[in-house]
Amino acid sequence: MTLRDHLIARITAEGPMRVDDYMATCLLHPTMGYYTTRQPFGQLGDFTTAPEISQMFGELIGLCLAQTWLTNGAPETFTLAELGPGRGTLMADALRACRAVPGFLEAAEIVLVEASPALQDQQRATLKGRAGTWIANTAQLPKGPLYLIANEFFDALPIRQFVRVGQQWRERHIGVQDGALQIGLGPALPQPSLAHRLEDTHDGDLVESCTAAATMIADIASRIATFGGAALIVDYGDWRSLGDTLQALERHETADPLAQPGHADLTAHVDFEALADAAAPAAYTKLAPQGVFLERLGITDRAQKLATASKGRALDAHVAAHRRLTHPSEMGNLFKVLGLYQNGKTPPPGLEP
Ligand code: SAH
Repeated sequence: MTLRDHLIARITAEGPMRVDDYMATCLLHPTMGYYTTRQPFGQLGDFTTAPEISQMFGELIGLCLAQTWLTNGAPETFTLAELGPGRGTLMADALRACRAVPGFLEAAEIVLVEASPALQDQQRATLKGRAGTWIANTAQLPKGPLYLIANEFFDALPIRQFVRVGQQWRERHIGVQDGALQIGLGPALPQPSLAHRLEDTHDGDLVESCTAAATMIADIASRIATFGGAALIVDYGDWRSLGDTLQALERHETADPLAQPGHADLTAHVDFEALADAAAPAAYTKLAPQGVFLERLGITDRAQKLATASKGRALDAHVAAHRRLTHPSEMGNLFKVLGLYQNGKTPPPGLEP
């Protein structure tokens, strides 16, 4: 049975399913889900992420968190956490760079939040024996100072979609018509959680919401507010999203999200305003474009240093990677960084209060 057959059988038996349910099933079905069955990253996969483009990304993120730890008085033990570590590349690069920060690695307890058992195995292999703990969700994060990174994690969380009709909303559902998956609309209902979206939308506009993201941010922010620490959230999206951003990517090409369930990566843009709203009682920074953030952290100096050690094709690839991460027409503007930190403390380097 394919995942498509499974979804059609389920919808036929139980009725149309919500977009968040569809997305979660496509990505994380235990035997047929995208992340559970595939190796999605890199040239041969479906998409490439910043840490897979250059080691500089993980190095600078690691040093940014380490500097925040120092500024906060270098607590003797703390959790160094990553959400959705993929192949484990970012964490490995961060740990290598942070060897230069006395005491940091000795104080760090590494915790990785990863839903896919296959990717957990890969992360274990990449981190080569460096002790870590794997947990399934942010509710299990230890209670203590927390320094956390999430790159391209929140875009993978399941969203719901609503179309405005007057003062009410019709939720988008996935149904079955003539044996094929099809988008449809549920009945018009009031949605108290979307009250603020009545201010900036018109009839027919589509808005998205992501309950899982708000729950996870609340878990993280409560630890930072109580015990200290910081979080860096890097993803594509903007402050308050509008319109349908559900996207499927297969072999680096966009695809129809309903065409091949479980075969394509499914993501949605991150609504950073919704994350910031969920972050009380911690403080949050202004949203910074990834390119600006990395430049402020000194990526150009690091790129020049690395350039002296390579030549020929490797040097060309290195120069291209620097550009890809930072240039406004590549990832520099599309990707944004939001920092969370403890009220009254200094925000992480590269970000403004
Ligand atoms: N951060 C990595 C990978 C991003 S892909 C990088 O930058 O390369 C998204 C990652 O989040 C994958 O590791 C995926 O398995 C994980 N993931 C997706 N949904 C999840 C969920 N609900 N809970 C935990 N991990 C999840």
